[in-house]
Amino acid sequence: MEVVIASKNVHKIREFREILQHIKNLDLTSLLDYPDYEAPEEKADTLEENAKVKAEHAAKVLKKHVLADDSGLFVVTLGGAPGVISKRYSGDDATDAENRAKLLKEMTGKEGLDRCAYYECCIFLANPDGIIKHVKGICEGVITEEERGRNGFGYDPLFQKHDYDKTFAELEESTKNRISHRMKAVQKILPTLESL
Ligand code: IMP
Repeated sequence: MEVVIASKNVHKIREFREILQHIKNLDLTSLLDYPDYEAPEEKADTLEENAKVKAEHAAKVLKKHVLADDSGLFVVTLGGAPGVISKRYSGDDATDAENRAKLLKEMTGKEGLDRCAYYECCIFLANPDGIIKHVKGICEGVITEEERGRNGFGYDPLFQKHDYDKTFAELEESTKNRISHRMKAVQKILPTLESL
């Protein structure tokens, strides 16, 4: 059974592939396999709505089962920023490095509990008839004082999960994929994927 990951983000696609590698008969593809597909704009106020629109649209247009995630980093003392606009925190075409630089600047002077943050991942599974299932995963930690590590993507060099002494970018990819918000969400949707 083919399931299309509704993303062109190679890091995300790799994480999904690793997390889902044990499911039998699952032929995972991604939007990289459908270069002519035009994704809808991500303009909703919530991760849920963005993921839902991504999943419904891709499933209908591609006539496939689709797994769409929308994810972001939420810093409580910044009122939840960067949140739903994590990817474009410092501008529409922002790079991950620019977004991290802006976050570090906003965190200046914040200490202890004020550096708490969490990653959230919302996943919707759809077929051409509509949504089949949706789930959410959260991973809590802190924003570090400086960037550390080269693995992962996005805000990973600045995110350290509680009870760990390494940032997500310092951990092995396989370790991040055991404890991440994406893994927690995927675990909840596994039975549905296995039953397709
Ligand atoms: P999306 O592709 O619209 O879901 O955007 C997600 C954005 O949130 C990414 O571009 C990153 O900035 C951030 N993000 C989500 N998940 C992660 C993660 O696992 N590590 C680092 N950054 C993440």
